[in-house]
Amino acid sequence: MKGLMKMRTGAGNVEIQEVPEPQPGPGEVMIQVKAAGICGTDIHIWKDEYKSAPPMIMGHEGAGVIAALGEGVQGLATGDRVTAETFARFCGHCFFCKQGKINLCPERKSIGTHLNGFFTKYLIIRASAVHRLPEGISFWAGALSEPLACCVHGILERTPLSAGDWVLISGPGTMGLISLQLVKSGGGKAIVLGTGKDEERLALAKKLGADVTINVQSEDPAPRVLELTDGLGADLAIECAGAAASFNQCLKLVRKGGRISQAGLFGRTVEVDLELVAMKELEVIGFFSHLPSAWDRGLKLMAEGKVLTEPLVSHHLPLTEWRAGFSLMEKGEGLKVLLLPAD
Ligand SMILES: [Zn+2]
Ligand SMILES: [Zn+2]
Repeated sequence: MKGLMKMRTGAGNVEIQEVPEPQPGPGEVMIQVKAAGICGTDIHIWKDEYKSAPPMIMGHEGAGVIAALGEGVQGLATGDRVTAETFARFCGHCFFCKQGKINLCPERKSIGTHLNGFFTKYLIIRASAVHRLPEGISFWAGALSEPLACCVHGILERTPLSAGDWVLISGPGTMGLISLQLVKSGGGKAIVLGTGKDEERLALAKKLGADVTINVQSEDPAPRVLELTDGLGADLAIECAGAAASFNQCLKLVRKGGRISQAGLFGRTVEVDLELVAMKELEVIGFFSHLPSAWDRGLKLMAEGKVLTEPLVSHHLPLTEWRAGFSLMEKGEGLKVLLLPAD
């Protein structure tokens, strides 16, 4: 089968390879991949801005059908439509694992980063990482359950909002547009910020429930945000762009005593005005990836139609055209690009 592999560390070094079809071991399942999403992290891995352990097949966002069960797997059957958590392995006995924070385990090994991922035909994963897709949720929508789980963890689990809160979402990419829907489903009011190249994304944000969208290159968002929030600033800001200017915008537009949830990855050290964190008594809350609990909650929200992920899919390409997909993502064109397995 074909797999899109990072072959060795260093910028680039990504190519399609012919690899043998895998077999599930005890406690594992084999998923036949139906759709896999390209994430900003994949672009960082491609450029060597995010640590990975090559050689491995890339891709950590996907959905498919169970094609085979390893020994001892219960509660799942071949033909089940599923998605999977990215943490294929964790130690189970460290400080973090004992608290259930497997995303922080130093021994954690993730698909698409350390172990073979979704950019291929068949994927092997521990059965306990598998979640069934709710009825009526397509493979395309299901392929986005990983970014959804990240947003559920980052927002609903780490920075919960109160109904009526004004929430600033900076960066209308996949994370931003999912965060927006979580904010709306929690009773918050959402202001989505983007730049000139985000016009289409801002229009989609409007359709998905944004109260206000602002192109920061044609309008200074500060007066609008102050006007909407009784001169205070936003209660919560979610930084989803992974850009210094975006973080500084959040620092400026969040109210005193407010919170910033850091969702974007910068891929490098950036210059930000931390003085404002002290002066405004802000809380900056980070999150990394997801917990199993966030998957259950995310899939429920999908099933209830409170979060729609399929409208975020802008392109779908066969795996062999990965270069075109990666370059769309790199240029910030389109939104979520899916790769579909090629024989
Ligand atoms: Zn991702
Ligand atoms: Zn551990």
